Amino acid sequence: MESETMTWAARAVPQTRGLHPYVPGKPVEQLLRDKGLSHAIKLASNENPYGPSPKAMEAIRHAAGEVHRYPDGDSRQLKEVLAALHGVTPAHILPGNGSNEVLELVIRTFAGPNDEVVYSQRGFIVYALAAQAAGARGIAIPEADGLAPDLQAMGQAVTANTKIVCIANPNNPTGSWIDNDRLQAFLDRLPSDIVVILDEAYYEYVMVEQGEYVPVRHPGLVLCRTFSKAYGLAGCRIGYAVADPDIVAVVNRVREPFNVSLLAQQAAVAALVDRDWVMERVALCNAERLRLESALAELGILAAPCRGNFVLLRHASAALILQRLEDQGIIPRPLGPYGMPDYLRITVGTVAENETLLTALKPILASLD
Ligand SMILES: *Cc1c(COP(=O)(O)O)cnc(C)c1O
Repeated sequence: MESETMTWAARAVPQTRGLHPYVPGKPVEQLLRDKGLSHAIKLASNENPYGPSPKAMEAIRHAAGEVHRYPDGDSRQLKEVLAALHGVTPAHILPGNGSNEVLELVIRTFAGPNDEVVYSQRGFIVYALAAQAAGARGIAIPEADGLAPDLQAMGQAVTANTKIVCIANPNNPTGSWIDNDRLQAFLDRLPSDIVVILDEAYYEYVMVEQGEYVPVRHPGLVLCRTFSKAYGLAGCRIGYAVADPDIVAVVNRVREPFNVSLLAQQAAVAALVDRDWVMERVALCNAERLRLESALAELGILAAPCRGNFVLLRHASAALILQRLEDQGIIPRPLGPYGMPDYLRITVGTVAENETLLTALKPILASLD
């Protein structure tokens, strides 16, 4: 036996030190239990309030009859559908247990001790967590204006040790968006042998507003998309990357054989067939986002307009606002882990949910004046 003071944390690999688990949005069940409420609205994790297309639900019901079988470890059918959508071959597609797994796999495959991973400070927090867990050095570049990635500074931070640059576009939690011309100019200045993770979890919300745009190019580009947001399949856990087949092949060496469940594969294929249904809901969310933003602006608490299915508010008493909203069964997302304690991120809900939110916010803000 080790000494009495031995802890398992001390036995773990050094990169686990100083690492804290990801803090997700508070689950509805937890709030109901904590507050003794019977109903709550979760606006904390950017899920689609309308859920998945009926075709995806039907596919899940059908797949339920097959769950005693392992899924196709190669996700062949899904890869074919996605390849057609992106105009690439199935060998370019890397499906994962949520795009989160794809991000982790790619970071773990290309960055280890002494390697650097560059991202913006208020970029999606998973990049920092995954880089540290891989034993790599995370290089967090502050935003010039507090919200949008400083592309010039990020480019300058790239050294011979840099293996990966991560960028979310639109970014969560800041909602900033970089148009593809600026993004392409940034990519053109990066070395061709580094991996560029371009995380487009909210792509559909931009696409519906301005139409399909020319994809950016870089030899090491790993374009990540998810079914968790617009497609309403967050609970199924399914996302993917589009990348050079050599990148996909080497990441395949480290992934588990059956990383994407049977339900997830079939739900995603069906959801893609029903893309028009999905995009109608996305358009509805966008209209509601604009409505929420003008209401928040009128209340003087809009931090900045966002691209994505969420809004960002800023108030010195954000923590108090959070508490009062939770008291009434409304769950926004605090941004302390991003070093943004005076901000709240609020997912666009259904029309009725957004109404409830605004009705609750007004007296709370009045009481704080
Ligand atoms: C939600 C989100 C993801 C992760 O989604 P998955 O559910 O793991 O597919 C990735 N990137 C960003 C920026 C997100 O907001």
